[in-house]
Amino acid sequence: MSYDPTNIFARILRGEIPCKKVFEDDHVLAFHDINPQTPTHILVIPKGAYVSFDDFSTKASAEEIAAFVRATGQIAREAGLAAPGYRVLSNIGRDGHQEVPHLHFHIFGGRPLGRMVPNGD
Ligand code: AMP
Repeated sequence: MSYDPTNIFARILRGEIPCKKVFEDDHVLAFHDINPQTPTHILVIPKGAYVSFDDFSTKASAEEIAAFVRATGQIAREAGLAAPGYRVLSNIGRDGHQEVPHLHFHIFGGRPLGRMVPNGD
């Protein structure tokens, strides 16, 4: 799947639409999900044009990968989630129910999250 530069997170990265930013560095942007599923629901995205985790893990540089992973942990810690715990999740492709075709990690936290994934739909 080729990268679609009109996707909503590409537009956020270009500053064409706003976001509630929580973190930014040379490689990473993080912002609050517009439709939060948990009391804390943050999206972490690389600034590079990667469709999904599959694309990123194949093509990104070691520097980009390290920056993305370290930023995700730092953002969760700074949101106060390290002690109570939290979940990092990335949806990939059709079966993963990915809606926005720019890699994002969801950080969920702020309440007990239950076990893993629901069945079905
Ligand atoms: P996914 O199904 O993993 O692709 O999730 C996409 C996520 O992006 C959903 O949780 C949406 O609520 C979120 N989302 C969509 N548009 C925006 C936006 N403009 N700002 C923040 N979050 C958004």
